[in-house]
Amino acid sequence: MTLEARKIRLLMQLRRAGIASTEVLAALERVPRELFVPHAFRDQAYENLALPIGQGQTLSQPEVVAQMTAELAVDKTMTVLEIGTGSGYQAAVLARLARRVYSIERHKPLLDEAEARFAELRLHNVTARLGDGSRGWPEPRSFPRIIVTCAAALPPEPLLQQLRPGGIMLLPVGETGRSQELVKLEKTDSGVRETRLGMVRFVPLVGDPPAVAQGRSA
Ligand code: SAM
Repeated sequence: MTLEARKIRLLMQLRRAGIASTEVLAALERVPRELFVPHAFRDQAYENLALPIGQGQTLSQPEVVAQMTAELAVDKTMTVLEIGTGSGYQAAVLARLARRVYSIERHKPLLDEAEARFAELRLHNVTARLGDGSRGWPEPRSFPRIIVTCAAALPPEPLLQQLRPGGIMLLPVGETGRSQELVKLEKTDSGVRETRLGMVRFVPLVGDPPAVAQGRSA
């Protein structure tokens, strides 16, 4: 079966799994996932599987990428901050939907490879940099959308501070090394509203111990 046929099969699978947004499915269709995995895994690029990308890290399962992208509800007016560039795949999908994507990765080899892919795909609206994403974007800035693609025990306070009022942050919360809860945080006038979206399994966010988030209401 060709990669193109496998991609169509995957998109149908995602639709059956409940991904209803045609914009999200179209963004996934436009990003060649095979370019974001090591050559040995190209044949599996359109299986609904997490795949290794080196440095002990993984590219998330397409269904999780699709679900997180849909929950983030991004549009062309928005900037998105991503923590955990990894292969660059999630950032590339978001770049099709958002005005600009800022992404932080702590492993230089992964960052270099991701930047090469953004250049090859002419994704000029992605800015990626090396650093500890648990500290937020280094320059003072606020974002209407933040996505964390590694698991934290608690939402890092600097990220909550950089989330714009009315904004949405998605992140896997829980103990690392086991399953975590995918959580959607919406910043409201009265605090932060939390919605639990189900269990996921992510590699850990490695950084400063995150500060306890204040002022959250369930
Ligand atoms: N979004 C990625 C993609 O599309 O390939 C997958 C991300 S992978 C599941 C998690 C990534 O988070 C890893 O590349 C890891 O190095 C990175 N990471 C972990 N802790 C981090 C931190 N404090 N700051 C930045 N990146 C971090």
